[in-house]
This record gives sequence, C-alpha cells and structure tokens, in this order.
Amino acid sequence: MSFSRFDDDDAGGIDEAMCCFSCREPYAPGDAGTCKECYEEASETEEELKREIDDLKSKVAFLRLSSSLHPFSPPCFSDVVLVAADGASDQTDLAPPVPVHAHKAVLANRSPVFRAMFENQMEESLSGTIKISDVSHDVLCAFVNYLYTAEACPDDQMAYDLLVMAEKYQVKHLKAYCEKFIISKLNWDNSLLSYAFAHQHNAKHLLDAALSLIADNMDKLTKREEYMELVEKDPRLVVEIYEAYLAKQVNTAAHKDPLQNNRSHRDYFIAAAD
Ligand SMILES: [Zn+2]
Repeated sequence: MSFSRFDDDDAGGIDEAMCCFSCREPYAPGDAGTCKECYEEASETEEELKREIDDLKSKVAFLRLSSSLHPFSPPCFSDVVLVAADGASDQTDLAPPVPVHAHKAVLANRSPVFRAMFENQMEESLSGTIKISDVSHDVLCAFVNYLYTAEACPDDQMAYDLLVMAEKYQVKHLKAYCEKFIISKLNWDNSLLSYAFAHQHNAKHLLDAALSLIADNMDKLTKREEYMELVEKDPRLVVEIYEAYLAKQVNTAAHKDPLQNNRSHRDYFIAAAD
C-alpha cells in the first residue's frame, strides 16, 4: 500500500505539516507524515492485504483448469471439439483443420453463446464439433486457452482477433482484457483504424480512448489516408469525430474562463492531458 504524503492540498501551514496525515493529530518529532499509531495500523492493513492476495492466488491456482491445448497432453475427458473454419481450411486439398479439444461445461460457463448452443441442442452440440468461422487456428487456440486460464499473451493483431471472438461469444472478461491491451498500444498511427474497429465491435473503452487521441490531433487528421477511406465508407463515424472535437473545444474554452470552475472530472482529465 502506498501513502501519498506530499500531494495533499490541505497541507499548507507549518502547524498542519506537523500533523499526522491520517488522523490529523500532532505527531512526535521523529515521525514523518503519519504518527506511529497510524503507521502501524497501515502496516497491519498492508500485511492483511498481502495475505488476502496470497489466498486469492492459491484459489485461482486451485480453480484453474487445464486446457488440454498443450500438444503433448491428451484431451482429458473432452466432450467437444472446436475447429477453426477460416477461408483456407474449407479447401479440400489442404490438410484438415486441427481440432481443439474442450469441455462443454467449461465453454457453457464462460460464454452465454456456447451455453445457449448446448442448451438448445443445436447441431453443433449434437455432433460434438463446433465450427468457428472467420478465425485462424492460432486465434481459436488462444481463445479457448483464455476460457480455461483467463490468460493470454497477445501480440497486436491477436488482441484485435481475440476481441472479435470475445464479442461474438460474449466473453466480457476477455473483451475487457483485449480493450485494455489495445488501448495500451494506441498511438496516432493506429488510432483511426482502432476507432473504426471499436465502433464495429462495440468496444466502448477503446472507442473513447481512440476518439480522444484523434480529437487531440485534428490538425493532422485530414492528411491521413484512413481518413479519406472513412469519409467514403462510414461518414457517420467522421461526424462523431468532429462532434468529439467540438465538445473538447468547448471544454477547453471553459477551462480558460476563470469564472467557469464547475468542470466535471472528465473535463479536468482532458484539460490536464493537453
Ligand atoms: Zn495518526
């Protein structure tokens, strides 16, 4: 646990600076920031949190399921296989697609779409083979692995592909994970594509992040090739960009007006990022 001792706006006068930040009581000359009692209390809380984290870690390790994806591990009581049916594997002259072994119970628990599929005795459920279209074998493996382990190590493209899968099968946890990953890699070069992608796949956090980045660089926007493509393909998205930009201008103007000090946290954040 970290203590921020130096960013307290109220710590103005010398008298106040000699008071404990936590309980506001004056503290002994040897103490710094917090009194001995508060310091000890915080240390106890820290120990408690560490124990809780250790508990949670061991629980996760206990609950983690083996995904049978390792090439040398046999499919353990698997009752369903998933097959990536991307364009290439439909061609009969190519090697048959490699099945990914899984368990209905796990798939149904992680994804409401799989659950509905099994509950409604759809063809896939009866045959025991689920064909997943428009996905590569690698992405399918990463997807299934995530359903078992809540872990993924995506590269840039994989994160986009996994997000599509997460959206299609309504795996919210994975979708949030992918959004965070993509946002962490967001830059001016990929912002327009990410923005259009976020729109297409209802990725609200990514959409906001990309839009904010674009609105910060409006002067460069129209020079981009992707911008012209967007104007052609989906002018609605372009309108949204300009709306976000205008809203930002209004906020910035409010920031410069000293009489206007009722800004929301979001406005503050945007202004601070300038
Ligand atoms: Zn104290």
